[in-house]
Amino acid sequence: MKTQKTVQVLTIYRFKETARICFVVESSNGLDTYHTCFNRDENHGSCTCPAIRGCYHLDQLKARAAEYFQSRQPAKVEQVLTAEDIASLVDPDIEVMQPVKANPVQEAQQFINRVVAEKMAIHNAAESTFESAPSGRLVPMR
Ligand SMILES: [Zn+2]
Repeated sequence: MKTQKTVQVLTIYRFKETARICFVVESSNGLDTYHTCFNRDENHGSCTCPAIRGCYHLDQLKARAAEYFQSRQPAKVEQVLTAEDIASLVDPDIEVMQPVKANPVQEAQQFINRVVAEKMAIHNAAESTFESAPSGRLVPMR
C-alpha cells in the first residue's frame, strides 16, 4: 500500500538571473535533505532523492515551480522601445561628441554626383579606348 507523502519544504531558492528554482526538501525520515530543482519550466525538474522514478517531490512541487516560472514571464518579454524611449536614451551631449554633418542632403547629393561622375568616367574611358583603338596604323615590316 502506497502512502501519500507530503513534501516538507525547508528552503526555496528562486534564481533571478536564470529561470531556475530549487526547493530544499526534507526526506520522509526527516533526517536527510534533498534538492528538488526545476530549470526553464516546471517540466524540467531534477531531484537528489533516491527515487528512480515517480519522485513525489517533483510531482508536488511542480505547481509551485510553475507559479515561479509564470511570475518570471513579464521580465522575459523583450521591452519594445518607442521613439520617445530611444530619444531619452540618447545623450543630449552627443552632438558635441560627434561632428554632425552640416548639410546631410548636400553631402548625399555630392556623393551621388561623385558616383555618377565616376561611372561616366569609366564609360567614357571604355568608349575612348574603343574609339582610339589603333585604326589601320601599319607597322612597316622589316
Ligand atoms: Zn525527490
